[in-house]
Amino acid sequence: TYVVTDACIRCKYMDCVEVCPVDCFYEGENMLVINPNECIDCGVCEPECPAEAILPDTESGLEQWLELNNKFSAEW
Ligand code: SF4
Repeated sequence: TYVVTDACIRCKYMDCVEVCPVDCFYEGENMLVINPNECIDCGVCEPECPAEAILPDTESGLEQWLELNNKFSAEW
């Protein structure tokens, strides 16, 4: 899955939301999040993010962001 990180905070350009084929972006408290259960790992959103806030969860050190993406997208 892909993960939205802190670079998104107060950004919300929404370019990523428009390109996602499965509409798995949701609004978190002050940033967007990706629902890890719905993301199909296509990678289309990553280059669209002007803040470079979207990363694949294969990168290290993303545990807290993965948790937060999971938490906020589960509330919908
Ligand atoms: Fe959506 Fe693809 Fe990005 Fe996952 S990787 S959030 S499916 S655009």
